[in-house]
Amino acid sequence: MEIKTVGVVGAGQMGNGIAHVMALAGYDVLLNDISQEALDAAMTQIAANLDRQVSREKISADARDAALARITATATLADLGQSDLVVEAATEREEVKNKIFETLLPHLKPETLLTSNTSSISITRLASRTDRPEKFMGFHFMNPVPIMKLVELIRGIQTDQETYEACLGVVDTLGKTAASAEDFPAFIVNRILMPMINEAVYTLYEGVGGVYSIDEAMKLGANHPMGPLELADFIGLDTCLAIMNVLHDGLGDTKYRPCPLLSKYVEAGWLGRKSNRGFYDYRGEKPVPTR
Ligand code: NAD
Repeated sequence: MEIKTVGVVGAGQMGNGIAHVMALAGYDVLLNDISQEALDAAMTQIAANLDRQVSREKISADARDAALARITATATLADLGQSDLVVEAATEREEVKNKIFETLLPHLKPETLLTSNTSSISITRLASRTDRPEKFMGFHFMNPVPIMKLVELIRGIQTDQETYEACLGVVDTLGKTAASAEDFPAFIVNRILMPMINEAVYTLYEGVGGVYSIDEAMKLGANHPMGPLELADFIGLDTCLAIMNVLHDGLGDTKYRPCPLLSKYVEAGWLGRKSNRGFYDYRGEKPVPTR
């Protein structure tokens, strides 16, 4: 099946990036959000991000203009009815996602593929609530979408090979690389990354090292481009905690228990860069370790 029109549901941090890369790759994009404000902000953000790519000579001004012209923003979910592929990237709550698919399904063509960008909800369970579980899969972009090269493609138990291959074709057209994952908690990247970040927090909690030592140790000793605590601040400590809870609950192994210090930072509202304070304090000129 040829994919020409992509519906993106949710125009937040991830949705605007997904609309951006899809439009730049030549797909017509129908971008939906329940909030008109979020849609307006997304269009402004996409234009600014495309402008930056033009100024860095990554794309031409014509490519920018063509990409912007391919995106239609709409607050009406039914307007996504003509999509060949839907990428759901709304708020990470299962009832929100189920409701979106329930509302959208009567408007879709029978062959439209459904995907979700969820980081932690079971693809198999989301798929089972739709009329086409075999045409449903996880399409998991990394943040920031225009920069990160990887997409995890997650097969639910019911996903058929045709759906997988069609999604793989889209990833290819985007110029990105797919990693194929089965539908188990946190998939591949977060399954490996989050326990490492959590262990870094335990290392801090137990006083083995301070924030600065831990990050320097992993940058220079393991050749990581960012230290684990710096990375945790970038991702958001609430997100890190939520993913550890998904691993702990879903796999039932105590090795995934979230570090109490991580919970404490989240309780304090120290969520990382987005709240100006996490393992580092970002309120001054330079980030300062908080421990
Ligand atoms: P976000 O909060 O920035 O954006 C979510 C958007 O969904 C908001 O604009 C909200 O108004 C909209 N929304 C809520 N209910 C809706 C509905 N019923 N219909 C249409 N729009 C609705 O969140 P985000 O960080 O962009 O995350 C979106 C999804 O992407 C989540 O499933 C998340 O797990 C996943 N994800 C996030 C990251 C990340 O680093 N942030 C990475 C990979 C995947």
